[in-house]
Amino acid sequence: MSSTSSSSSLLTPQTSSISSLPTVIPFINIDEVIMAAETITHIVLFKYRSDITWSDLEDHFKYFMSLKTRSLHPQTGLPLIKSLRAGKNTSWEPHSKGMTHAFILEFASQDDLDYYLTAEPVHVQFSRDAKPLIEDSLVVDIKDGVLFGAKAEHPLLKQNEGVWRGSCHCETVRWTVRLESAEHVLCHCATCQKLGGGPYSCNQIIPKDELSIVLGKGNVGEYKYKGASGEFARHFELGLWATVLTNETGKSVHCYFCKTCTSHIYHHQDVMPEKVIVRTLLLEGGNKMPATGEIFAEGRLNWVKELRDNLETTN
Ligand SMILES: [Zn+2]
Ligand SMILES: [Zn+2]
Repeated sequence: MSSTSSSSSLLTPQTSSISSLPTVIPFINIDEVIMAAETITHIVLFKYRSDITWSDLEDHFKYFMSLKTRSLHPQTGLPLIKSLRAGKNTSWEPHSKGMTHAFILEFASQDDLDYYLTAEPVHVQFSRDAKPLIEDSLVVDIKDGVLFGAKAEHPLLKQNEGVWRGSCHCETVRWTVRLESAEHVLCHCATCQKLGGGPYSCNQIIPKDELSIVLGKGNVGEYKYKGASGEFARHFELGLWATVLTNETGKSVHCYFCKTCTSHIYHHQDVMPEKVIVRTLLLEGGNKMPATGEIFAEGRLNWVKELRDNLETTN
C-alpha cells in the first residue's frame, strides 16, 4: 500500500567511479518492510439473513465500526484494528457466492489478530451478538505479497506448559487438554474393548474445564448408554480414580466422537458431572507417555502379559 519510490526517499551516492552503476539507489526502509510482512489483512464476507430489518443491520454495522476504537490491545491499550473498510457488495459479476457485505481489517501482527478473535472481550461479545443476523460467512487472512507458507496456528493449539494437543484420525476435530502428569491409565473393561476394538483404552480423568474443543465442534457426535449396575464403582476403585468413586449406578455415560472418522475424543458420565475422561493416546506425544495404572484388570486379556509385568514393577 505504501510506496518507497518517491523522490524524497532516494539516496544519491556521493561518488561513483564505475560509470555503469546506477546513479540513484532506491532507499529501502527495513522497518517498513518488516512491518509490512507482519501486517495481517483479515477479510470477512457476510451474507446477512434476508429477514433482518434495516435498523438491525444499521445497528450491527455501527457496532462493527465501533470496534475500531473499542477493541484494544491488552498491553498497550491502543486500538487493535489498524484500519477497517466495509461496505455492501456492488459487483455485477456472478461470483459473490451470495455474500452481501465485506469487511477488510488490518492488524499489526498475527498475535494481535489471534487476541482479537479469541479473547478481546468487546469483539468476542460483538461476535456473539452478530451471529443471529448472519446466514453465511467467509473469512480469509493474508499477508501482503506472501504466496507460500503454512497456515497460522490456532492460538489455543500453541504449545503450552502442561497442555497437550489432540486430534481425531481425520483431523476435523482438534482439542487441547491440561494434564497434571503425562501418563496413561488403562481400562480393560468390556465397554472400552467393544467401543475401541482393542484390548484396553488409554485414559485420564480431568476437570471438564481442562478440555477445550478448538476446531470441529460441530462434527462431534454423541453416543449415550446406561452404565451397568456396579460398573462405575468397579471402574473407579483403583488409585487416583478412587477420587471419583460413586455408588450411583444406572446413570448415563456419554461418548463423544468424530462423526467423520469415529475417533473417540472423550467421555462424560452423569455420576461425575464436573469431570471428563479423555483418551490420552489421541494426544500428540501420547505414544511416549508411560502407562502407570490400570482399571478393570480382571478384563485384561491373558496375552497382554508384558503390560501386566511392566505395571507391576512401576506401581
Ligand atoms: Zn475425525
Ligand atoms: Zn473402560
